[in-house]
Amino acid sequence: APAAELRDIKSHNHDAMSRSAVLHRSIHENVKFPRLVGGKGNFLETDDGRRIFDASGGAAVACIGHGSPRVRDAVAKQMMQISYCASTFYSNDAYEELCRLLVASAHGHMAKAYVVNSGSEAMEAAMKLARQYYLEKNPAENQRTRFIARKQSYHGTTIGSLSMGGHKARRVKFEPMLVDNISHVSPCFPYRGQDGETDEQYVSRLAQELDDEFQRVGPETVCAFVAEPVVGAALGCVGSVPGYFQAMKAVCCKYGALLIMDEVMSGMGRTGTVHAWEQEGVVPDLQTIGKCLGGGYQPIAGVLVNNVIVQTLDRGSGAFMHGHTYQGHAVACAAALEIQRIIQEDGLINNCQRMGQLMGKLLHQALDSHPNVGSIRGRGLFWGVEFVLGKSTKEPFPVSDGVAMAICEMGMKRPYCIGVYPGTGTADGIRGDHIIVSPAYNIVT
Ligand code: PLP
Repeated sequence: APAAELRDIKSHNHDAMSRSAVLHRSIHENVKFPRLVGGKGNFLETDDGRRIFDASGGAAVACIGHGSPRVRDAVAKQMMQISYCASTFYSNDAYEELCRLLVASAHGHMAKAYVVNSGSEAMEAAMKLARQYYLEKNPAENQRTRFIARKQSYHGTTIGSLSMGGHKARRVKFEPMLVDNISHVSPCFPYRGQDGETDEQYVSRLAQELDDEFQRVGPETVCAFVAEPVVGAALGCVGSVPGYFQAMKAVCCKYGALLIMDEVMSGMGRTGTVHAWEQEGVVPDLQTIGKCLGGGYQPIAGVLVNNVIVQTLDRGSGAFMHGHTYQGHAVACAAALEIQRIIQEDGLINNCQRMGQLMGKLLHQALDSHPNVGSIRGRGLFWGVEFVLGKSTKEPFPVSDGVAMAICEMGMKRPYCIGVYPGTGTADGIRGDHIIVSPAYNIVT
């Protein structure tokens, strides 16, 4: 090659070496992500010597903090025993034991658990389980192919789970690729949706909207209604008003459809009970779990499945037509199992409730009077603060002026700072701004 060409290649390689090779969310070279070199307990450490109090546990993930020797030992032991086995042919103790623990956590309402690697995969699996259930229950129910979910929801990032989500900003670029058998009704969002009504009136209006949607699409075509019990990423910790989920379940039962609750963010203790549905007086037919299952130590998520569905598949084909290479991964299961044991043995769900009440009180004390704070809401250690341009108008911040992102960035520039999680799009899924505060369950005062 000519010398000039070689020089070009060399200088390109030199540039490439000094650049990050990671495809981060922001691709711009001038955006520098703080590089973490350590994590101990509730603190993160950066390569330039800062300590960050991990007030959000990442995306509401790190439920027991960082650097647990117990989890390290459990993972190392599992790796030396058996790290991976093809779950089509083999089982392993960690997977069996974890699923037993998960089924037991549901107070007899769930019969089996299915373990995958991410919340999005869990949602995909739940969708296919629902479809397969109807197909094997009765061939005449073959027409059940639709789902009804909610606007301003988040259920994941793969094509099926993104289609399930009703968050406009996340959907918009991929809209033509999304599946069109999913429609969206209003979420239960008292701050922006309850229009001078009592809780009963509000619930009854939302139940009517769901009923109307079943009628519009044809009730015999619907597999399930899908909702997060406490909306995390899309709205910032919005729980429903009393009676909401009971009313929604009643509509599902009326039309013989399933209720799927997405507890990827709200589940495994985050809201002060193991499952957030325990606070709603209803039990879902299928439930997804994720984040606090593995507490960030391993990528792991899952689906809990009730007995009716399990029995139906058992009498039918006898197999769930689905599978990932790494499902039921032994090391991930061993980590999750140890984390769930730590949560149980150390009484961390009680601490989550106690510290959550305190955190709510302190957030209200500190921020209620701020002119740009519209709403503070949460359960357990899962709190959201929504910012507005004006308290009385509730006018949302345009995302381009994102105050939440600014708060997070400002925090990260300080020598000792608080790592909260930014969210965008509360008002209509495009405009609006909130932060999530969701520290580990073992925080102390
Ligand atoms: N479902 C809910 C409710 C979530 O909050 C998330 C992630 O934030 C997901 C699904 C997707 O999970 P994952 O990012 O692990 O794929």
